Amino acid sequence: MDVLAYASPSAKAPFERTTVQRRDVGPRDVLLDIKAAGICHSDIHTGRDEWGPASYPLVPGHEIAGIVTEVGSEVTKHQVGDRVGIGCMVDSCRTCENCQRGLEQFCLNGFVGTYNATGKDGLPTYGGYSRQLVVDQDFALKIPDALALDVAAPLLCAGITMYSPLRHWKAGPGMQVAIVGMGGLGHVGVQLAHAMGAEVSVISQSRSKEEDGRRFGADHYYATSEDGTYKRLRNRFDLIVNTVSAPLPMQNYLSMLRLDGTMVNVGAPSEPMEVPAFALLNNRRSWAGSNIGGIQETQEMLDFCAEHGIAAEIETIAPTQIDEAWDRVVASDVRYRFVIDTTQII
Ligand code: NAP
Ligand code: ZN
Ligand code: ZN
Repeated sequence: MDVLAYASPSAKAPFERTTVQRRDVGPRDVLLDIKAAGICHSDIHTGRDEWGPASYPLVPGHEIAGIVTEVGSEVTKHQVGDRVGIGCMVDSCRTCENCQRGLEQFCLNGFVGTYNATGKDGLPTYGGYSRQLVVDQDFALKIPDALALDVAAPLLCAGITMYSPLRHWKAGPGMQVAIVGMGGLGHVGVQLAHAMGAEVSVISQSRSKEEDGRRFGADHYYATSEDGTYKRLRNRFDLIVNTVSAPLPMQNYLSMLRLDGTMVNVGAPSEPMEVPAFALLNNRRSWAGSNIGGIQETQEMLDFCAEHGIAAEIETIAPTQIDEAWDRVVASDVRYRFVIDTTQII
């Protein structure tokens, strides 16, 4: 079936309205009428070939919320009219040991990305900057009624990317948690860590987001542009989640970990970062990474957000504003997630 979309025709080229081909609805598929699509910094890394050459035309978008309009004959999990979300994955092998453990994001045979990948149907996958999406029922999540679709969409990537490491490293009462970078991921991370009961610090480049940070639940707020910030925070945190899209001076951040503390990288800069061994040796520190989260955990995260009144703070844009929005994300000028009103793709 032909579907309207906004696509980038080549690296760094402006978006244009186009049509892309998706498979017809199969027995286990649902067809989704997309209502909102978040803009993740990963869309930009991909669309500017920062992570290697992408496939064009590129229709990004892996923070997708919409309504089911058709279901295949064997679909049991969703019904027409259901509010559903799609994140970064639209399929995986389902049989490897990681898939069996509900860790599809680490599928040993490689999960199928929502865009810039090839689906099991042999067609290129196209993401949420479009009107409709066909997806296997197992990769569509239920969006609880308490969450509006537009503010829920960013949870499908930003939300789960923060929720998973916070849970894995057991953020909770008595723990000092720092979130580095308060952009799309960071602002959801602050809310989640606060709701889990941790004492939360924001480490931002400037003071400009302090009021918002405290409103999201931060107990402390630090600006790295101020002299002495790194020194002041030495040996302070049990868990640091780094959401920054560019390389950081790792020595300064690792030094902030107290005994047995862990710094988790979710930010994915294209350039390598230098890690001085001595910064890890002291205090028995760890440096780790985390990649989105599994399907079951994503549902758990959505339910947790609904229960705790957590959602993204968004600026809604028309599809014609995507290029401008990307530039603003790169300039850290986003409060705090751009969401495309995909119903305007006509
Ligand atoms: P974003 O909205 O651009 O937020 C990143 C924030 O980092 C900015 O708002 C800014 O916050 C801070 N920052 C930016 N440049 C910086 C610099 N040079 N030095 C220090 N701080 C800087 O991006 P996002 O959508 O949250 O994504 C963040 C990163 O995570 C990207 O690399 C993305 O690809 C990656 N990602 C990874 C996963 C995963 O599964 N691991 C999932 C989604 C995204 P302040 O203004 O507060 O300093
Ligand atoms: Zn993302
Ligand atoms: Zn697998």
